Amino acid sequence: DRVVDSAADDLERAAEAALRPRRLADFVGQPVVRDQLSLVLDAANARNTPPDHVLLSGPPGLGKTTLAMIIAAEVDGALRMTSGPAIQHAGDLAAILSSLQERDVLFIDEIHRLARPAEEMLYLAMEDYRVDVVVGKGPGATSIPLTLPPFTVVGATTRAGLLPAPLRDRFGFTGHLEFYSPAELEQVLRRSAGLLGAELRDDAAAELASRSRGTPRIANRLLRRVQDFAQVRGTGVLDLAAAHGALDVFEVDRLGLDRLDRAVLQALCQRFGGGPVGLTTLAVTVGEEPETVETVAEPFLVREGLILRTPRGRMATPAAYDHLGLRPPSEGMLF
Ligand code: ADP
Repeated sequence: DRVVDSAADDLERAAEAALRPRRLADFVGQPVVRDQLSLVLDAANARNTPPDHVLLSGPPGLGKTTLAMIIAAEVDGALRMTSGPAIQHAGDLAAILSSLQERDVLFIDEIHRLARPAEEMLYLAMEDYRVDVVVGKGPGATSIPLTLPPFTVVGATTRAGLLPAPLRDRFGFTGHLEFYSPAELEQVLRRSAGLLGAELRDDAAAELASRSRGTPRIANRLLRRVQDFAQVRGTGVLDLAAAHGALDVFEVDRLGLDRLDRAVLQALCQRFGGGPVGLTTLAVTVGEEPETVETVAEPFLVREGLILRTPRGRMATPAAYDHLGLRPPSEGMLF
Protein backbone atom coordinates (compact mmCIF):
# COMPACT_ATOMS: atom_id res chain seq x y z
CA ASP A 1 0.00 0.00 0.00
CA ARG A 2 2.92 2.32 0.69
CA VAL A 3 3.60 2.36 -3.01
CA VAL A 4 0.73 4.68 -3.75
CA ASP A 5 0.70 6.68 -0.54
CA SER A 6 1.40 10.25 -1.64
CA ALA A 7 3.46 11.25 1.40
CA ALA A 8 7.24 10.71 1.39
CA ASP A 9 9.57 9.55 4.17
CA ASP A 10 13.24 10.46 4.55
CA LEU A 11 14.60 7.54 2.57
CA GLU A 12 12.28 8.33 -0.26
CA ARG A 13 13.24 12.01 -0.13
CA ALA A 14 16.79 10.93 -0.93
CA ALA A 15 15.65 8.81 -3.88
CA GLU A 16 13.50 11.71 -5.06
CA ALA A 17 16.32 14.22 -4.93
CA ALA A 18 17.96 12.61 -7.95
CA LEU A 19 14.80 12.97 -10.02
CA ARG A 20 13.91 16.56 -9.22
CA PRO A 21 13.88 18.99 -12.10
CA ARG A 22 16.30 21.84 -11.30
CA ARG A 23 14.99 24.52 -13.66
CA LEU A 24 11.54 25.80 -14.48
CA ALA A 25 12.00 24.68 -18.09
CA ASP A 26 12.41 21.05 -16.93
CA PHE A 27 9.32 21.16 -14.73
CA VAL A 28 6.66 19.09 -16.46
CA GLY A 29 3.01 20.20 -16.65
CA GLN A 30 1.28 22.87 -14.54
CA PRO A 31 1.33 25.29 -17.49
CA VAL A 32 -0.58 28.00 -15.62
CA VAL A 33 1.59 28.08 -12.50
CA ARG A 34 4.75 27.71 -14.55
CA ASP A 35 3.86 30.65 -16.73
CA GLN A 36 2.86 32.86 -13.80
CA LEU A 37 5.97 31.93 -11.87
CA SER A 38 8.22 32.52 -14.84
CA LEU A 39 6.81 36.04 -15.13
CA VAL A 40 7.31 36.77 -11.43
CA LEU A 41 10.87 35.42 -11.46
CA ASP A 42 11.94 37.11 -14.68
CA ALA A 43 10.60 40.44 -13.46
CA ALA A 44 12.41 40.11 -10.15
CA ASN A 45 15.63 39.18 -11.89
CA ALA A 46 15.28 42.12 -14.30
CA ARG A 47 14.84 44.47 -11.33
CA ASN A 48 17.59 42.69 -9.47
CA THR A 49 15.39 42.26 -6.38
CA PRO A 50 14.22 39.07 -4.66
CA PRO A 51 10.82 37.93 -5.94
CA ASP A 52 7.63 38.45 -3.97
CA HIS A 53 6.66 35.78 -1.43
CA VAL A 54 5.10 32.74 -3.08
CA LEU A 55 2.42 30.44 -1.71
CA LEU A 56 2.01 27.03 -3.34
CA SER A 57 -1.04 24.95 -2.61
CA GLY A 58 -2.07 21.47 -3.66
CA PRO A 59 -2.14 17.84 -2.54
CA PRO A 60 1.13 16.12 -1.56
CA GLY A 61 3.56 14.98 -4.26
CA LEU A 62 2.58 17.49 -6.96
CA GLY A 63 5.84 19.46 -6.92
CA LYS A 64 5.66 22.17 -4.25
CA THR A 65 9.10 21.44 -2.78
CA THR A 66 10.52 21.03 -6.26
CA LEU A 67 9.20 24.46 -7.24
CA ALA A 68 10.68 26.04 -4.12
CA MET A 69 14.08 24.62 -5.10
CA ILE A 70 13.61 25.85 -8.65
CA ILE A 71 12.72 29.35 -7.41
CA ALA A 72 15.93 29.49 -5.40
CA ALA A 73 17.96 28.26 -8.38
CA GLU A 74 16.31 30.71 -10.78
CA VAL A 75 17.05 33.71 -8.56
CA ASP A 76 20.48 32.44 -7.63
CA GLY A 77 19.66 32.34 -3.93
CA ALA A 78 20.32 29.73 -1.28
CA LEU A 79 17.39 27.56 -0.19
CA ARG A 80 16.59 27.18 3.50
CA MET A 81 14.01 24.53 4.32
CA THR A 82 11.76 24.13 7.33
CA SER A 83 8.15 23.24 8.05
CA GLY A 84 5.25 24.44 10.17
CA PRO A 85 5.36 21.48 12.58
CA ALA A 86 9.18 21.74 12.93
CA ILE A 87 8.90 25.24 14.35
CA GLN A 88 7.76 24.61 17.90
CA HIS A 89 8.46 28.03 19.33
CA ALA A 90 8.63 31.51 17.88
CA GLY A 91 12.29 31.47 18.98
CA ASP A 92 13.00 28.67 16.48
CA LEU A 93 11.72 30.86 13.70
CA ALA A 94 13.59 33.91 15.01
CA ALA A 95 16.83 31.91 14.81
CA ILE A 96 16.15 30.94 11.21
CA LEU A 97 15.07 34.42 10.18
CA SER A 98 18.01 36.17 11.79
CA SER A 99 20.47 33.95 9.93
CA LEU A 100 19.01 34.67 6.47
CA GLN A 101 21.23 36.20 3.83
CA GLU A 102 20.14 38.46 1.03
CA ARG A 103 18.25 36.56 -1.74
CA ASP A 104 17.77 33.45 0.39
CA VAL A 105 14.61 31.51 -0.26
CA LEU A 106 12.98 30.26 2.92
CA PHE A 107 10.77 27.26 2.19
CA ILE A 108 8.14 26.56 4.85
CA ASP A 109 6.34 23.30 4.17
CA GLU A 110 2.94 22.75 5.81
CA ILE A 111 2.86 26.43 6.60
CA HIS A 112 -0.76 26.15 7.76
CA ARG A 113 0.54 24.24 10.80
CA LEU A 114 2.70 27.07 12.16
CA ALA A 115 1.93 27.92 15.76
CA ARG A 116 0.26 31.28 16.30
CA PRO A 117 3.24 33.20 17.79
CA ALA A 118 5.51 32.02 14.98
CA GLU A 119 2.88 32.99 12.46
CA GLU A 120 2.75 36.52 13.83
CA MET A 121 6.52 36.79 13.76
CA LEU A 122 6.42 35.68 10.15
CA TYR A 123 3.92 38.44 9.20
CA LEU A 124 6.34 41.08 10.38
CA ALA A 125 9.31 39.44 8.70
CA MET A 126 7.50 39.07 5.39
CA GLU A 127 6.09 42.57 5.35
CA ASP A 128 8.70 44.76 6.98
CA TYR A 129 11.78 42.52 6.87
CA ARG A 130 12.03 42.80 10.62
CA VAL A 131 12.20 40.38 13.49
CA ASP A 132 12.16 41.10 17.20
CA VAL A 133 14.67 38.87 18.90
CA VAL A 134 14.00 38.34 22.61
CA VAL A 135 17.12 38.23 24.71
CA GLY A 136 17.05 36.93 28.28
CA LYS A 137 14.16 35.55 30.30
CA GLY A 138 11.51 36.78 32.71
CA PRO A 139 11.20 40.44 33.71
CA GLY A 140 14.74 41.17 32.50
CA ALA A 141 13.99 40.02 28.95
CA THR A 142 14.44 42.63 26.26
CA SER A 143 13.40 42.55 22.69
CA ILE A 144 15.91 43.68 20.09
CA PRO A 145 14.56 44.63 16.68
CA LEU A 146 16.64 43.22 13.87
CA THR A 147 16.42 44.26 10.23
CA LEU A 148 16.48 41.37 7.79
CA PRO A 149 17.99 41.40 4.31
CA PRO A 150 15.49 41.11 1.43
CA PHE A 151 14.50 37.45 1.13
CA THR A 152 11.64 35.37 -0.23
CA VAL A 153 9.30 33.06 1.64
CA VAL A 154 7.92 30.13 -0.32
CA GLY A 155 5.09 28.57 1.67
CA ALA A 156 3.53 25.22 0.84
CA THR A 157 0.16 24.05 2.02
CA THR A 158 -2.18 21.24 1.10
CA ARG A 159 -5.00 23.76 0.98
CA ALA A 160 -4.71 27.54 0.79
CA GLY A 161 -8.06 27.78 2.58
CA LEU A 162 -6.46 26.40 5.75
CA LEU A 163 -4.30 29.50 6.06
CA PRO A 164 -5.45 32.43 8.17
CA ALA A 165 -6.30 35.37 5.92
CA PRO A 166 -3.61 37.73 7.31
CA LEU A 167 -0.91 35.20 6.45
CA ARG A 168 -2.40 34.43 3.04
CA ASP A 169 -2.46 38.15 2.25
CA ARG A 170 1.29 38.47 2.74
CA PHE A 171 1.98 36.35 -0.31
CA GLY A 172 2.27 38.29 -3.54
CA PHE A 173 1.56 35.24 -5.61
CA THR A 174 -0.38 32.03 -4.98
CA GLY A 175 0.00 29.07 -7.29
CA HIS A 176 -2.48 26.20 -7.17
CA LEU A 177 -1.03 22.91 -8.31
CA GLU A 178 -3.45 20.57 -10.07
CA PHE A 179 -3.32 16.81 -10.54
CA TYR A 180 -1.31 15.86 -13.63
CA SER A 181 -2.83 14.39 -16.77
CA PRO A 182 -1.71 10.91 -17.86
CA ALA A 183 0.20 12.51 -20.77
CA GLU A 184 2.10 14.76 -18.36
CA LEU A 185 2.85 11.85 -16.05
CA GLU A 186 4.22 9.91 -19.00
CA GLN A 187 6.59 12.80 -19.60
CA VAL A 188 7.66 12.71 -15.92
CA LEU A 189 8.18 8.94 -16.18
CA ARG A 190 10.25 9.16 -19.35
CA ARG A 191 12.44 11.85 -17.89
CA SER A 192 12.94 9.86 -14.67
CA ALA A 193 13.65 6.61 -16.55
CA GLY A 194 16.32 8.47 -18.50
CA LEU A 195 17.92 9.69 -15.27
CA LEU A 196 17.78 6.18 -13.78
CA GLY A 197 19.32 4.73 -16.93
CA ALA A 198 16.30 2.47 -17.41
CA GLU A 199 14.69 1.47 -20.68
CA LEU A 200 10.99 2.29 -20.35
CA ARG A 201 8.64 1.06 -23.07
CA ASP A 202 5.79 3.31 -24.24
CA ASP A 203 2.99 0.93 -23.25
CA ALA A 204 4.51 0.52 -19.78
CA ALA A 205 4.81 4.31 -19.41
CA ALA A 206 1.16 4.74 -20.37
CA GLU A 207 0.05 2.05 -17.92
CA LEU A 208 2.03 3.55 -15.03
CA ALA A 209 0.84 7.06 -15.86
CA SER A 210 -2.78 5.99 -15.57
CA ARG A 211 -2.16 4.32 -12.20
CA SER A 212 -0.28 7.16 -10.54
CA ARG A 213 -3.19 9.06 -9.05
CA GLY A 214 -2.31 12.18 -11.01
CA THR A 215 0.81 12.55 -8.84
CA PRO A 216 4.48 12.68 -10.00
CA ARG A 217 5.72 11.37 -6.64
CA ILE A 218 3.64 8.23 -7.08
CA ALA A 219 4.66 7.89 -10.74
CA ASN A 220 8.35 8.00 -9.78
CA ARG A 221 7.81 5.54 -6.94
CA LEU A 222 5.98 3.07 -9.18
CA LEU A 223 8.76 3.46 -11.73
CA ARG A 224 11.35 2.37 -9.17
CA ARG A 225 9.27 -0.66 -8.22
CA VAL A 226 8.88 -1.63 -11.87
CA GLN A 227 12.63 -1.28 -12.23
CA ASP A 228 13.04 -3.67 -9.28
CA PHE A 229 10.59 -6.11 -10.81
CA ALA A 230 12.21 -5.97 -14.24
CA GLN A 231 15.63 -6.57 -12.74
CA VAL A 232 14.68 -9.47 -10.48
CA ARG A 233 11.79 -11.19 -12.23
CA GLY A 234 11.82 -9.78 -15.76
CA THR A 235 14.17 -9.08 -18.63
CA GLY A 236 15.66 -5.89 -17.23
CA VAL A 237 13.57 -3.82 -19.63
CA LEU A 238 10.70 -1.82 -18.13
CA ASP A 239 8.01 -3.31 -20.35
CA LEU A 240 4.29 -3.85 -19.91
CA ALA A 241 4.80 -7.26 -18.30
CA ALA A 242 7.12 -5.76 -15.67
CA ALA A 243 4.68 -2.89 -15.10
CA HIS A 244 1.77 -5.28 -14.56
CA GLY A 245 3.90 -7.53 -12.41
CA ALA A 246 4.95 -4.71 -10.09
CA LEU A 247 1.45 -3.20 -9.95
CA ASP A 248 0.10 -6.61 -8.88
CA VAL A 249 2.77 -7.20 -6.27
CA PHE A 250 2.15 -3.81 -4.71
CA GLU A 251 -1.63 -4.06 -4.98
CA VAL A 252 -2.10 -0.84 -6.89
CA ASP A 253 -5.66 -0.87 -8.11
CA ARG A 254 -7.03 0.10 -11.52
CA LEU A 255 -7.32 3.77 -10.60
CA GLY A 256 -4.12 3.84 -8.57
CA LEU A 257 -6.03 4.38 -5.32
CA ASP A 258 -4.09 4.01 -2.10
CA ARG A 259 -5.09 2.44 1.17
CA LEU A 260 -6.61 5.60 2.60
CA ASP A 261 -8.60 6.25 -0.58
CA ARG A 262 -10.00 2.75 -0.51
CA ALA A 263 -10.72 2.91 3.21
CA VAL A 264 -12.69 6.13 2.72
CA LEU A 265 -14.70 4.61 -0.14
CA GLN A 266 -15.36 1.42 1.77
CA ALA A 267 -16.48 3.27 4.88
CA LEU A 268 -18.77 5.50 2.83
CA CYS A 269 -20.35 2.66 0.87
CA GLN A 270 -20.44 -0.09 3.47
CA ARG A 271 -20.67 1.60 6.86
CA PHE A 272 -22.75 4.61 5.92
CA GLY A 273 -24.85 3.27 3.04
CA GLY A 274 -23.38 5.81 0.63
CA GLY A 275 -23.76 8.83 2.92
CA PRO A 276 -24.18 11.68 3.35
CA VAL A 277 -21.80 11.52 6.29
CA GLY A 278 -19.82 14.30 7.97
CA LEU A 279 -16.07 14.61 7.42
CA THR A 280 -15.19 14.08 11.09
CA THR A 281 -17.26 10.90 11.41
CA LEU A 282 -15.76 9.57 8.22
CA ALA A 283 -12.22 10.38 9.38
CA VAL A 284 -12.74 8.68 12.76
CA THR A 285 -14.01 5.58 10.98
CA VAL A 286 -10.88 5.26 8.86
CA GLY A 287 -8.60 6.20 11.78
CA GLU A 288 -7.26 9.44 10.29
CA GLU A 289 -7.28 13.15 11.03
CA PRO A 290 -10.12 14.98 9.27
CA GLU A 291 -7.52 17.26 7.68
CA THR A 292 -5.71 14.28 6.15
CA VAL A 293 -8.89 12.83 4.72
CA GLU A 294 -9.89 16.22 3.40
CA THR A 295 -6.58 17.27 1.85
CA VAL A 296 -4.90 13.99 0.92
CA ALA A 297 -7.64 11.53 -0.06
CA GLU A 298 -10.64 13.60 -1.04
CA PRO A 299 -9.32 15.81 -3.83
CA PHE A 300 -8.47 12.85 -6.03
CA LEU A 301 -11.63 10.91 -5.17
CA VAL A 302 -13.73 13.95 -6.03
CA ARG A 303 -11.83 14.46 -9.26
CA GLU A 304 -12.37 10.85 -10.24
CA GLY A 305 -16.10 11.21 -9.61
CA LEU A 306 -16.09 8.64 -6.80
CA ILE A 307 -17.34 10.88 -4.03
CA LEU A 308 -19.32 14.08 -3.79
CA ARG A 309 -18.94 16.85 -1.24
CA THR A 310 -22.41 18.07 -0.42
CA PRO A 311 -23.57 20.54 2.23
CA ARG A 312 -24.94 17.57 4.20
CA GLY A 313 -21.70 15.62 4.03
CA ARG A 314 -19.75 13.25 1.81
CA MET A 315 -21.58 10.89 -0.51
CA ALA A 316 -20.47 7.92 -2.58
CA THR A 317 -21.37 7.94 -6.28
CA PRO A 318 -22.43 4.83 -8.23
CA ALA A 319 -18.87 4.81 -9.64
CA ALA A 320 -17.53 4.26 -6.11
CA TYR A 321 -19.66 1.12 -5.68
CA ASP A 322 -18.64 0.01 -9.12
CA HIS A 323 -14.96 0.50 -8.31
CA LEU A 324 -15.24 -1.57 -5.13
CA GLY A 325 -17.20 -4.27 -6.97
CA LEU A 326 -20.28 -3.59 -4.83
CA ARG A 327 -23.89 -3.17 -5.85
CA PRO A 328 -25.18 0.36 -5.29
CA PRO A 329 -28.23 0.64 -3.04
CA SER A 330 -31.50 0.52 -4.99
CA GLU A 331 -32.54 3.47 -7.11
CA GLY A 332 -33.80 6.60 -5.52
CA MET A 333 -31.74 6.15 -2.35
CA LEU A 334 -28.54 7.63 -3.64
CA PHE A 335 -29.32 11.20 -4.61
P1 ADP B 1 5.40 18.16 -2.76
O1 ADP B 1 6.38 19.10 -2.14
O2 ADP B 1 4.27 18.87 -3.43
O3 ADP B 1 4.91 17.10 -1.81
P2 ADP B 1 7.68 17.32 -4.37
O4 ADP B 1 8.10 18.62 -4.94
O5 ADP B 1 8.49 16.78 -3.24
O6 ADP B 1 6.12 17.37 -3.95
O7 ADP B 1 7.65 16.28 -5.58
C1 ADP B 1 7.68 14.89 -5.37
C2 ADP B 1 8.48 14.19 -6.45
O8 ADP B 1 7.81 14.33 -7.70
C3 ADP B 1 9.89 14.74 -6.65
O9 ADP B 1 10.77 13.65 -6.78
C4 ADP B 1 9.86 15.48 -7.94
O10 ADP B 1 11.02 15.24 -8.68
C5 ADP B 1 8.68 14.89 -8.68
N1 ADP B 1 7.97 15.94 -9.39
C6 ADP B 1 7.01 16.73 -8.87
N2 ADP B 1 6.54 17.59 -9.78
C7 ADP B 1 7.23 17.34 -10.92
C8 ADP B 1 7.18 17.91 -12.25
N3 ADP B 1 6.31 18.87 -12.56
N4 ADP B 1 8.04 17.42 -13.15
C9 ADP B 1 8.87 16.42 -12.85
N5 ADP B 1 8.96 15.84 -11.63
C10 ADP B 1 8.14 16.29 -10.67
